[in-house]
Amino acid sequence: MISSRLKAILSQIKQAEIRYHRTPDSVLLLAVSKTKPSADIAAAYQAGQRHFGESYCQEALLKQGELGAYAITWHFIGPIQSNKTKAIATHFDWVHSVDSLSIAQRLNKQRPTHLAPLNICLQVNVSNESSKSGISLNELSQLCEQVAKLPNIKLRGVMTIPAPEDDFERQRQPYKTLVQAIRKLDDFKLDTLSFGMSGDLIAAIAEGSTMVRVGSALFGIRD
Ligand SMILES: *Cc1c(COP(=O)(O)O)cnc(C)c1O
Repeated sequence: MISSRLKAILSQIKQAEIRYHRTPDSVLLLAVSKTKPSADIAAAYQAGQRHFGESYCQEALLKQGELGAYAITWHFIGPIQSNKTKAIATHFDWVHSVDSLSIAQRLNKQRPTHLAPLNICLQVNVSNESSKSGISLNELSQLCEQVAKLPNIKLRGVMTIPAPEDDFERQRQPYKTLVQAIRKLDDFKLDTLSFGMSGDLIAAIAEGSTMVRVGSALFGIRD
């Protein structure tokens, strides 16, 4: 089941790359396994998947313990509490949800120096909904400047979670807006757009996504 869904999603990604004139293999699939058991991660791994995303630190550490034999690249994509930054800095390869300088500074300080710099994306709230986390567009360039100076983290790009939307053209809009904002930030050599989830990955790829974060379409609906 998971392996056939994985195949189908990878094929959708490939078709979207062709259709929207994207470089072949420029979009990475991040399998979002939050709330799902380690056995599901193992099934996807055996079908070839290597990048997994988790939103809750405690839950992720338990699964990492169970899956220690697997060469998984772990991505943290959930809200970050400051008392969790040490565990996140130690046990993840990527963090997509950095939305303040103080969290970035803590991750930088707590990243073990024997590990490669922690890859991070800044989470941007494009539609400015007060309920969602993320910095606003007008805070982005300043935070890039501050974060780019930190030696133990590597600023890779941006992540956004738009408000759910059924219409394809409307799904594209927030991604388009963010891509435009980023054009002014050449200096930072950002190479990652963490755009798109199960419901809007095609729209995200059309707008330049390099990493789609897919949960329910791969592992089934969460409780
Ligand atoms: C849960 C989650 C996803 C996956 O959502 P689906 O709609 O199940 O694909 C992607 N990104 C973030 C940040 C999430 O929290």
